[in-house]
Amino acid sequence: MALTIDGFEGSGTFAHGVHPPENKMFSTEMAIEVVPQPSKVLLPLSQHVGAPCQSIVKPKQSVAFGEMVAKGGGFVSAALHAPIAGKIQRNVVTTLPQGRRVEAIAIKSDGEQLEGDELLEEIFGGKWPTKGLEKYDPQQISNAIHDAGIVGLGGAAFPTHVKLMSNDKADIDTFLINGCECEPFLTCDYRMMIEAAGPIITGALLGARAVGAKNIAICIEDNKPRAINVLQKAADGTGIKIAVLKTKYPQGSEKQLIMAVTKRAVPLGGLPMNVGVAVSNVGTIAAVARAVLRGKPLTHRAVSITGGGILNPKNLLVAVGTPIRELFDYCGGFRENAARVISGGPMMGFAFTNFDAPVTKGTSGITVLTREDVAKSEETSCVRCGRCVDGCPMNLVPTKIALASRNKDIDLAQQYNIMACFECGSCAYNCPAGIPLVQLIRTGKGLIMASKKK
Ligand code: SF4
Ligand code: SF4
Repeated sequence: MALTIDGFEGSGTFAHGVHPPENKMFSTEMAIEVVPQPSKVLLPLSQHVGAPCQSIVKPKQSVAFGEMVAKGGGFVSAALHAPIAGKIQRNVVTTLPQGRRVEAIAIKSDGEQLEGDELLEEIFGGKWPTKGLEKYDPQQISNAIHDAGIVGLGGAAFPTHVKLMSNDKADIDTFLINGCECEPFLTCDYRMMIEAAGPIITGALLGARAVGAKNIAICIEDNKPRAINVLQKAADGTGIKIAVLKTKYPQGSEKQLIMAVTKRAVPLGGLPMNVGVAVSNVGTIAAVARAVLRGKPLTHRAVSITGGGILNPKNLLVAVGTPIRELFDYCGGFRENAARVISGGPMMGFAFTNFDAPVTKGTSGITVLTREDVAKSEETSCVRCGRCVDGCPMNLVPTKIALASRNKDIDLAQQYNIMACFECGSCAYNCPAGIPLVQLIRTGKGLIMASKKK
């Protein structure tokens, strides 16, 4: 498919990056299914970027579906709402897949829940207008997003009201909706684009109103022709453009996306708003439409359970707080050759073993890799081939950063701009010596953060 970015300056791609096997075939054709509502949910108070939220409920209290159970703990924070009707239990501490121990509100179901097609209809169904949205003023839109506890559903989990608000200090002219889903294996955004085009288009128009952007583009890689088709039809007459981008990893990362579409370079340490752009994921923007038009909070999200190690890979609509183990059971369990479970995909995800951990607002998928997937050769010495540099979309020198981290030389690591690394994994993917570049870089960042606390 030819690259088309009508009305934008970008070339449809960015410099560097890699082409890992896409592995979308496991779940790409699987329509979103609603998982039976869990008997109990765990809602971590810290499942977003920013301050943890604060519980406003007490044990034994009854809560209705969608009722707020924790309010934001500051401006950069997001409220939590009950994804099931039930009774509040004693607070617990849970371990998230990233290894973080966090306090969580537990809710036990009281039995009567909205299920199956009714729940799907409640969340994505009905009419999604594209006209008459001028009646929602920007502040009203931001407030609705705030009250609904919406965070970035692409995995970043950054509170959306902070991004989608009018800002005197930033003149935002462009709103990009990120439908790239460049991470291998994951397909939940793809299915959202096919099955929830209505709320995505309405949400895109509302988000653009919130930030004052006149240019709107839904950005999709050229390996997703069906999603491109569906959204082109749905966007007809709205002024929204569909930007078809070259398939390359990490095309879905904000800075690379902005370069590919607008040809604008976000400065090192800067934000998209510094170059007049706001970016939101397709799932996030569908939640925005629901919050603004219907006053409904974020209680459920689409999650891919995928990979060669799971018996029946699927895309699921899941209550936030559902134990991940229940999703594996729903998908038929592990195959005999399952070897590693990753929260997210293999490039940016985290391997984990605590399957009682809950789905959070940032859980876009769980990938179950097989023994063949994880078989790797022994680490050898750096052969100075430069392939890590070729792959790095941030123009860093990963081998030098990793060596400085290994030597605990945090000054040198900072000179090499370690903090600009967003851990995309392109360098490690390219490295023929099997050097764990990303782990070393993460360790170096940890040392820097620890030194700042002293
Ligand atoms: S150094 Fe960081 S940003 Fe660059 S390729 Fe490696 S992980 Fe990605
Ligand atoms: S890709 Fe690996 S072997 Fe090649 S220079 Fe980078 S760290 Fe060294």
